[in-house]
Amino acid sequence: MRPLKAAAVTLFALASYVQAQVSVPYDYNRWPYPLYAEVTQKLQSLAKRYPKLARLHNIGKSGQGRDLWVIEISNFDKGPSDGKPALWADGNIHAGEVTGRQLLMYFAEQLLLSYGKDPKMTALVDDRVYYIMPILDVDGGEKVLTRHPAWPDHKPAEQAGKDLDGDGFITQMRVKDPKGMWYQSPIDPRVMLQVRDRTGGRWNFVPTTVDEPKDFDDELAPPDRRYSVYVEGQNMSPRASVTREPANFNRNWPAEWKPTEPGAGPYPLSLPEVAAVAKFMTDHKNIYFDYTIHSGGGAKNYIVRPPMSHPFEFMPPEDNDFYARVGAVWSWLSEGGLMNNNYYAQEVKAGRYGDTMTGFKNDWSYMHLGIHSLLPEIAAAGRDYDGDGYVTQYEIMRWNDKEKDGVYFAPWKTYKHPQLGNVELGGPRGMPQGVGDRLKNECEIHAKLLLHIAGLAPRLRVDKVEARPSKDGLVRVEAILKNEGFLSTYVTRQALTAKVDTPILAELDVEGGELVSPKAQVAGHILGRLAYIRRWGSGADESAKTVEWTVRKRGTGPLKLTVRASTPKAGADSRTVTVNP
Ligand SMILES: [Zn+2]
Repeated sequence: MRPLKAAAVTLFALASYVQAQVSVPYDYNRWPYPLYAEVTQKLQSLAKRYPKLARLHNIGKSGQGRDLWVIEISNFDKGPSDGKPALWADGNIHAGEVTGRQLLMYFAEQLLLSYGKDPKMTALVDDRVYYIMPILDVDGGEKVLTRHPAWPDHKPAEQAGKDLDGDGFITQMRVKDPKGMWYQSPIDPRVMLQVRDRTGGRWNFVPTTVDEPKDFDDELAPPDRRYSVYVEGQNMSPRASVTREPANFNRNWPAEWKPTEPGAGPYPLSLPEVAAVAKFMTDHKNIYFDYTIHSGGGAKNYIVRPPMSHPFEFMPPEDNDFYARVGAVWSWLSEGGLMNNNYYAQEVKAGRYGDTMTGFKNDWSYMHLGIHSLLPEIAAAGRDYDGDGYVTQYEIMRWNDKEKDGVYFAPWKTYKHPQLGNVELGGPRGMPQGVGDRLKNECEIHAKLLLHIAGLAPRLRVDKVEARPSKDGLVRVEAILKNEGFLSTYVTRQALTAKVDTPILAELDVEGGELVSPKAQVAGHILGRLAYIRRWGSGADESAKTVEWTVRKRGTGPLKLTVRASTPKAGADSRTVTVNP
């Protein structure tokens, strides 16, 4: 086996069998999760403790003036970050979806703790860069994690409700209402289900034919069994109707942005946090992959892939193959988890979004930056008691009853409300997003997926430099450039279409002679194995490219030749040889 082929195989093996060897000391049971100040402090202490591996970036300010922190992790002694392929990861982009902050703090610590102990992870810190932003919506996340009077840093004025019965938690109010959009679950009457219809039952609506009636739950939810559900202590005084929803952090991105999209915001990047991230990701041309973590998942984890606003066929086969391949790895790690896009999502079918959903971060990453992107939807409360691979809300209730002494659900009880009359107060009481062994599992499998993807990066190498005499006493210098990564050096075909790729630049330095041809040459791109994955069976290898220069020797001494090659997403490399042709 030729040495270059051996190198490629080694990296591939590394990518495929990454295991977390080092256990991260981590309190998986903590709820509510650490607030902004504690996360900031932790990031600062990590950067201080590992000065050669971590540094902090303050990339801007939130709407309420909080600093936006990104921790950069790489071995800074092994070359500058802009010469290595980089991964971006953000968490808590949606205010209520706070699990991402926990996953990414775990991931950052795992990278740092494993360095020098686990050889595979050490290699993936030496030769990759990770830009990790545990909390993107810092203001919204803070509001959610201080929601209850019993929780730290509670600021009543910032919350939607009030603790009317003084049990220490803001829960819900339910009241009989023939026009209400909720009913009691026939399986567990403590659980309130949304009526499935085309206007209100957003999450439960699953159409099967075009002829379905407007309301699907007439039998289960006749008018006399319907309820309206409010936040406990919600301000009931009428307000002027708000015609636009507040901007949604994941509808405010420029890709296919539409003013009519619910939550689109007044214009793309109108949210300061979104603008700051867009600028950082655009400025850091080494980023080839974007992981943007949500935790609004339903009964089972899944990962959303681009394109969100188009069918799969929109994507060229090479790009689509990446998701097919990584989707299979995810399915294995998560024991059956799915990777899909939202083009055919039930919300689209329900008509709320028109033809499709637009303004997503992962579409922006793919369509405008030309990089790959994934959006995990994590669901991590409760337990899969029946082992069917799903954690339903009944299993979450059972987990709370059996394992948590019922603390996360307030039984419904009557209360006399000044405006609504007799209501019942109760419902989820600060139900955790993810704690315990399920959170541990989420942390581990998402870290493994991220490390797997880190192993798939394009990676440019100067494999060989040779010189031989040519006519008229000149010397021909040849460098073989190689992409030993899985992805092509352009990362996505979409990058070529959008003209956001940066071709390889190769330069030659000569001692003992002088260049006759230009010093710098644009060398285009080199395919990664993904590009010819369908031809592997025929032994295809298109991973190398030759670049040539002409040199005039000075005297009879040797020539010292240094070839440097780089393209931001596939990194930089150089090789020096001394020859006497
Ligand atoms: Zn979300």
